[in-house]
Amino acid sequence: MSIKNICILGATGSIGLNTLDVISQHPDRYRAFALSANTNHADMLLLCEKYLPQFVVMVDERSAEILDSELRQKGFDINVLSGAKALEGLASHDDVDIVMAAIVGAAGLKPNLAAAAKGKKVLLANKESLVMSGQLFMTCVKESSAELLPIDSEHNAIFQCLPSGYVCGESVGASINRILLTASGGPFRTWSMDELRSVTPEQACAHPNWVMGQKISVDSASLMNKGLELIEACWLFNVQPSQIDVHIHPESIIHSMVEYVDGSVLSQMGNPDMRTPIAYGLAWPERISAGVSSLDLFKVRQLNFERPDVARFPCLQLAKDAFNTGGTACASLNAANEVSVASFLKGNIPFTAIPDIIYRVLETVSVNEVDSVERVLSADLEARQAAEEIILSIK
Ligand code: NAD
Ligand code: MG
Repeated sequence: MSIKNICILGATGSIGLNTLDVISQHPDRYRAFALSANTNHADMLLLCEKYLPQFVVMVDERSAEILDSELRQKGFDINVLSGAKALEGLASHDDVDIVMAAIVGAAGLKPNLAAAAKGKKVLLANKESLVMSGQLFMTCVKESSAELLPIDSEHNAIFQCLPSGYVCGESVGASINRILLTASGGPFRTWSMDELRSVTPEQACAHPNWVMGQKISVDSASLMNKGLELIEACWLFNVQPSQIDVHIHPESIIHSMVEYVDGSVLSQMGNPDMRTPIAYGLAWPERISAGVSSLDLFKVRQLNFERPDVARFPCLQLAKDAFNTGGTACASLNAANEVSVASFLKGNIPFTAIPDIIYRVLETVSVNEVDSVERVLSADLEARQAAEEIILSIK
């Protein structure tokens, strides 16, 4: 078996580091060939020393210069590149076998598309790119015969529960009744509307079950993460929102379920540890160890389920509405959310303003067909500007 070259887009992040952890458990199978990050050159230096990649992209030019000079001083021979365009080159490099798409937010769109267009095996963690470009992304995957595997734990679970041989983007078939998409409910699951108004970024980032990057942690707290995941599931599994039922499941042990017409409900379970879906994606269709501890159901004891409360957490409904509107509405939703979350994290707006801003943005921006990346990016820009203006007006 030849060693597979892995390109990790977003290597310094939570998914990136978990991927490196799994790879390092299987040096006979995988090699960290190329790594990327935005600005964090200090962490990237440590990763370079540990994993000895052949290529590194730091999107920020100054960070690339600093990293390059430190690596040279230490005697490492690693190619350091910079700029967003270099990410696309990395993701589509001839020697790359597998791309882990783990950049956060819209910045992942172009490199992910580049990987797909080159027919790579794409492990998709960056849900925002699929939310933005749905049809375009799935068509690109199909036309280039790329292999798309979901890493988001819920979608990975659904994929595992679908009939073997299922290919993402195809119809799930008439034997499937519905998808049960689980959600932890986040840190504010039981909080009142009044309490939600004064939550701090620290509280929003303290997820009860998962350790993740800041943006997805806030999305989990607002339930926008589940909204984005609902759209992600519609594209990955070629279903409509009406075929997906969101179940709040605070223990995060069942990662999602698929109901068949005969009444069978298949679930994928496990400790909440992203190394499981990452290892699954890397080795698929085989299985490899991931370093994840064994599930102790005697300790878990109970699995609970609740309906999501859309009155306290309107983001889930906003996402459904955007998907039903179609076209660039989902790209606008995503952009408005990214701007609102960044503003909340800086302490500029209250947590409860996030859905209000997104709602207002979606009311004002134009909706177009998703027929090119340029169209998606111009919708993204328009929504960002609209969101910034609304934030300025409420501060
Ligand atoms: P993170 O914030 O921990 O890491 C983000 C990575 O992206 C970093 O390496 C950073 O350098 C890079 N990055 C940030 N901005 C960039 C830019 N403008 N250009 C290029 N690179 C940039 O995020 P994370 O929690 O690892 O999440 C990554 C993606 O995976 C997100 O889309 C998230 O929704 C998805 N995801 C994460 C988890 C999880 O458990 N963390 C689970 C499911 C899905
Ligand atoms: Mg998820």
